Amino acid sequence: MIKKVLLMVMDGLGDRPIAQFNNKTPLEYAKTPNFNKLMQGSQAGLMYTLGRGKRPGSDTAHLQILGYDVEKYYAGRGPIEACGAGIKLQEGDVAFRGNFGTVDENMNVIDRRAGRIKDVTVFAKALDGMVIDGVQFIVKPGSAYRAGVVMRGKGLSHMVSSVDSHNDGDSIHKVEPLDDSAQAKFTANVLNKFVKKSYQILNEMPENKALEQNGKLKANFLLLRGAGYYKELPSFCQKWGFNNSACVAGGGLYKGIGAFLGMDVLPVDGANAQIDTNLENKFKTAINALQTYDFVFMHIKPTDSLAEDGKPEDKKMFIEKIDKYVSMLNCLGDDVLIVVTADHSTACELKAHSADPVPVLFNAKGIRADGLKNFGERECAKGSLGIIEGKDIMPNILNIMGKLPLIGA
Ligand code: ZN
Repeated sequence: MIKKVLLMVMDGLGDRPIAQFNNKTPLEYAKTPNFNKLMQGSQAGLMYTLGRGKRPGSDTAHLQILGYDVEKYYAGRGPIEACGAGIKLQEGDVAFRGNFGTVDENMNVIDRRAGRIKDVTVFAKALDGMVIDGVQFIVKPGSAYRAGVVMRGKGLSHMVSSVDSHNDGDSIHKVEPLDDSAQAKFTANVLNKFVKKSYQILNEMPENKALEQNGKLKANFLLLRGAGYYKELPSFCQKWGFNNSACVAGGGLYKGIGAFLGMDVLPVDGANAQIDTNLENKFKTAINALQTYDFVFMHIKPTDSLAEDGKPEDKKMFIEKIDKYVSMLNCLGDDVLIVVTADHSTACELKAHSADPVPVLFNAKGIRADGLKNFGERECAKGSLGIIEGKDIMPNILNIMGKLPLIGA
């Protein structure tokens, strides 16, 4: 009897054929004996996360896989990032994702990430709690140069443009209302005041002067984007009938998704969503968590980042590195269902997410396994699951666990 679930999502795992890999994808070309062993005892298929012809973002794709209809529940990326930074959203809040960056005195962006500064706690603290025209700003540090930002007050709207120019060298953008409402105009006005004031505060901080003296870039500006709003939603456990659930991730967005859905976000030493992330600790944390939690979501990021950098060889090597740790899953009991998939394809050729469907496998004792040999896009296409969508994942999990309600009598 299956009682527990490990859902492992490798970001941007799917890809397209690469000429120097004999027209295999990075996943097909990689040597993955442990994934292949898992595959033999699995039902496999391909998945369009958001549906055919829809190119998923990571945030929407994860919501859909975890059983939250994007049309109904997605309220922008800001609220998810804010959750990841530990802010509890309330009705009426407007939330943003933020980057601490560097600007010159003419408000031209020198570096959107302030030289990829590793810790912005002191800078976030300097802005946290600021009140402008009755609106409170909550600013909490995220991973590295990132921050979660929430505006709390009366009469706010998320219909405002971004401060972030998205390009180094460009001037920062003035925030504009995106509709004619008084709320959007008011919010844009308050934000523009915040942007000006926060620059004045940050630029004069002794910590920034010290950075400058050491020849480093100042973190003297907070670039805001991804405005979104609070939306009440059922917790993952409420929605799907689990006793408890945990999230094992390194990236702020993915921890944010866990927190957003009410999962316990477990600390993992050395998990940083970068290529030197501590995979061993991640697998250990997920495996240990399965002793107490009945649903564990584990996320691995660099498969996506390497493809966005257009590096198929590195992506292949990283997949091989993950595969080594997959052998650790052999210790899991017969009551655990392992689901392995991706949130979307990231094509090295495009250096971008694509709408190509992703491989998915369900491995559990007693499952009607397909006996396929190699975990890869085209081998998964031969599996008995056929072509599914992200919304099918949770019902399929419940079916394997014997928890689906009966339709009819
Ligand atoms: Zn992704």
